Amino acid sequence: MTALPDLCRRDLAVLWHPCTQMREHPGIMPLLPVARGEGAWLIGQDGTRHLDAVSSWWTNLFGHAEPRIATAIAQQAMTLEHVLLAGFTHEPAVRLAERLLDLAPPGLARVFYADNGSAAVEVALKMSFHAHRNRGDTRRTRFVTLSNSYHGETLGALSVGDIPLYRRTYAPLLLEPLFTPSPDAFNALPGEDAEACALRCADELATMLEQHGETVCALIVEPLVQCAGGMRMHHPAWLRRARELCDAHGVHLIADEIAVGFGRTGTMFACEQAGIAPDLMCLSKGITGGFMPLAAVLASPTIYETFLDDSRERAFLHSHSYSGNPLACAAALATLGIFDSDDVLARNAVTADKLASHGRRIAQHPNIADYRQSGMIFAFELMADPAALTPFPTSERIGLQIYRAALRHGLVLRPLGDVLYWMPPYCINDDDIAHLATATQAAIQEVLPCA
Ligand code: PMP
Repeated sequence: MTALPDLCRRDLAVLWHPCTQMREHPGIMPLLPVARGEGAWLIGQDGTRHLDAVSSWWTNLFGHAEPRIATAIAQQAMTLEHVLLAGFTHEPAVRLAERLLDLAPPGLARVFYADNGSAAVEVALKMSFHAHRNRGDTRRTRFVTLSNSYHGETLGALSVGDIPLYRRTYAPLLLEPLFTPSPDAFNALPGEDAEACALRCADELATMLEQHGETVCALIVEPLVQCAGGMRMHHPAWLRRARELCDAHGVHLIADEIAVGFGRTGTMFACEQAGIAPDLMCLSKGITGGFMPLAAVLASPTIYETFLDDSRERAFLHSHSYSGNPLACAAALATLGIFDSDDVLARNAVTADKLASHGRRIAQHPNIADYRQSGMIFAFELMADPAALTPFPTSERIGLQIYRAALRHGLVLRPLGDVLYWMPPYCINDDDIAHLATATQAAIQEVLPCA
């Protein structure tokens, strides 16, 4: 066995890593010391290079250490690093709010800042509940969420998630939402297309709201792609119907665009593809191009206005110390600037086509049961027997094996269970794409050899 790099030894003596069974380090799960980033690449202390096909947990948009964003942060740091946002304001927070409202679906009018995705979800849940109360409606205490959804790890956000691995242990502590079936096209019935599947699931939502609508604050959804749930994708028809049903029952619609916002699904925000506007929209991750923790909740004027009163209790007394941090806002403004100057969405459409042609070829592997794409998200569903839809035994940890194999080929894949996916930084170039495809294919072939 090769000696562990010094940084890894020191790390394993003091750190507790996120989303990690620490016992698996370093034997089962290698620990990669990263010295620097460059474009879509992570460069190790020993000079080894790994292509970051997962954009560092879906945060990075334009590459690691992107100079325009780095410079904006450095300049802001020399001017104003932070000031509390209660009773104070600053140019980056205001300008960013103006920009976000310009870009967002119509009808959103206020921006509330937090500093990570889970916190944004907490804010949206509390705002929805509180807005109903402020109108004098105290019956609404529940949330509706989708099967297989993911909205974060804090207790409120975890409550409206449905991934057993994350939720089960904490279930006794959590709110009990109402679960409605995900319109996930992978679960379509035989002969049913994605749209018919979406509309059938929307009928179930209609029945649920018929029965419980008066007690529901909000429906929360990851528009178009349930990312942590295995990059499961649905037809926008479900969102359109969900919007109508929410309106009919006085229920708020919360769009969690934390993972899918900022161009991931091909449009700036996923909701645009359904032509709908939510009442509350949660943003984070890509908002700063992957440089700084920042989240924003965009709210409708109707929600906002319920909080205006002489009473402090009717106000939204929620706060985070780093709300609207100027460095994070400066990073976000530089990120939005790049969307304009580099015509990113048009460029991504071309990049996505190139990736898709490799994706379709790789999907010929006999263990790939489904290959799906939404904009710059590509997913391969691995199964022991695709025809019978038989998964691999979980004990085989096929995804983990492919993760390890991919690392040996200079690629960070990080499958979700047995779902492999690509969600690369938008700056990925032709050489990078060629490497991504070759290394993905080699890693799959190493773990699941076929003729
Ligand atoms: N919502 C969605 C859709 C997410 O994908 C995530 C993170 N993967 C979150 C919320 C939580 O964000 P954070 O990790 O920043 O708390």
